[in-house]
Amino acid sequence: MQLSSTLTRFNEPETLKMAKLGRELRAKGIDIIDLSLGEPDFDTPQHIKDAAKNAIDENWSHYTPVCGYLDLREAICNKLKRDNGLTYSPENIIVSTGAKQSIANAVMSILDAGDEVIIPTPYWVTYSEIVRLVQGKVIFVNTTLQNGYKITPEELESAITYNTKLFIFSSPCNPTGAVYSKEELEKLAMVFKKFPRIVVMSDEIYEYINFVGAHESIAQFDSIKDRVIIVNGLSKGFAMTGWRLGYIAAPSEIIKACEKIQGQFTSGTNSIAQRSAIIALNSDLSPTHEMVKEFKRRRQRVTELLKDFPLMQCNVPEGAFYIFPSVKKYFGRKHGDIVINNADELCMYLLNEAHVSTVTGSAFGNPDCIRISFANSMEKIEEGFKRIKEGLEKLTPDNIEP
Ligand code: PMP
Repeated sequence: MQLSSTLTRFNEPETLKMAKLGRELRAKGIDIIDLSLGEPDFDTPQHIKDAAKNAIDENWSHYTPVCGYLDLREAICNKLKRDNGLTYSPENIIVSTGAKQSIANAVMSILDAGDEVIIPTPYWVTYSEIVRLVQGKVIFVNTTLQNGYKITPEELESAITYNTKLFIFSSPCNPTGAVYSKEELEKLAMVFKKFPRIVVMSDEIYEYINFVGAHESIAQFDSIKDRVIIVNGLSKGFAMTGWRLGYIAAPSEIIKACEKIQGQFTSGTNSIAQRSAIIALNSDLSPTHEMVKEFKRRRQRVTELLKDFPLMQCNVPEGAFYIFPSVKKYFGRKHGDIVINNADELCMYLLNEAHVSTVTGSAFGNPDCIRISFANSMEKIEEGFKRIKEGLEKLTPDNIEP
């Protein structure tokens, strides 16, 4: 079978690959603790589930408008006003099958082959692969632990060339949990102001999972708002990953372009998920706040547990539900015949020897780190860290004198 050359341009998501490997071992009867999860371990709140049941009974069963139901797009505009102080109208919104499709639509709408896209590392796996799929050129800017894994205005400006078309970042960030403050975003916006051709994609899917205060969007700066694409959705904040509902808020030309693309790929998003999303967005957010409170408790515990790992270096996540420690100091260590040369090998070692799944940092553009999710119960987190500790303690330096 001769498959298309398009497939050679991008990779399968490492996050999903790890989840698949974990499932395979579990099917063989091995008790795997899953700390690779990229989704809340909570159920969707009851009132949203009830809304879905009502939508089925009310026969919301027909094709939906490609951009999404008008009343859902109005609810999204109200949310953007209520939570972010941003004014948008329904022609600035398109609803898609998860934020992942939102990102794909927007990237396809903007890029031509050879256009450069600046992505600060560590970054969420999909950004670079979608850019490569459409033959864009990825320009990574490596951020550092010292800078809290945030790009500085100077680093941004020096990566910009005549061919730069797009900048993609997330705040709160998956995988580092870094959250940009208003002042930091303003300084980046001042750089973009000098380069009017560049579109800014701001992935705000972890907006509510923020442990340090109010969420800030780069779209708040009027000087660049007309070229910012806000990506958001219901997956993380409402524990609705399987419902597949994401959206963007952007200038209407971009929305029209996404509508054209989505009209051929998938048409409008699932009707039941859309009706339920209206209820989710219009209701009070206490179930979300309760969930975030629990994530905060776990973040506290994970930060304490990390003190038992003096060889790991880590920032304290300010949002999302991951820690992203550097595991570089384990490279070169061995257990029996197994030598750990990099984070990929350390993750496989932890999976096979400690029976804990994590994700290699190379999937996120930092090959010195691994991503450990705390979207799992406190009990599983405790057990997972205990196993990781035992596994790592078996790794001895290669250069011990006899
Ligand atoms: N952006 C980021 C940063 C994510 O972590 C994810 C999900 N892992 C998405 C977007 C995609 O979300 P969705 O489930 O809505 O497609």
